[in-house]
Amino acid sequence: MAVLKVAKLGNPVLRRVAKQVDLKELADPKGELQNFIDDMIDTMRQEGGVGLAAPQVNRSIQVVVLEVENNERYPDEAPIPVTALVNPVLSDFSEETVLGWESCLSLIDFRGLVSRSASVMLNAYDREGNKVEKRATGFEAVVLQHEIDHLNGKVFLDRMEDLTQLAYQEEFEEFWLKKDSVP
Ligand code: ZN
Repeated sequence: MAVLKVAKLGNPVLRRVAKQVDLKELADPKGELQNFIDDMIDTMRQEGGVGLAAPQVNRSIQVVVLEVENNERYPDEAPIPVTALVNPVLSDFSEETVLGWESCLSLIDFRGLVSRSASVMLNAYDREGNKVEKRATGFEAVVLQHEIDHLNGKVFLDRMEDLTQLAYQEEFEEFWLKKDSVP
């Protein structure tokens, strides 16, 4: 287990479309890919993220991990147990949207207001190679859209409609967090 180096904005790996994983690579529980998934989880926890996509640790393959558990950046969100998803695809994006202040380990210190679908259909495989099919809602839907964007070379800045709503974390806390209503 190891904490991996996180690729920051400007690193071309973040702008590539990630390669599909051959599910056979998941078969060996002590195999290289399983170790890599463990390292992704370690890295996400160490860096205080709620999700991490493989391109963010310099590997352009379709794997994401997520976990929400007493996260400092998102103290009010419902917990999500640690999850690894392989070759995830989202579809059936709801027209209903939610606005939220997102952050990203590849854009450390920035927060930006992003509109996302309130619910999405997820099709993927878990780390044992079992099919996953579910409708995700709430914060989970937002985190999935953010992480799976990384597999398509996108970051949350690309989803922002108004760049005046981009802030450093410190200014976010000072000027935006305390407001009763988010614009
Ligand atoms: Zn991110």
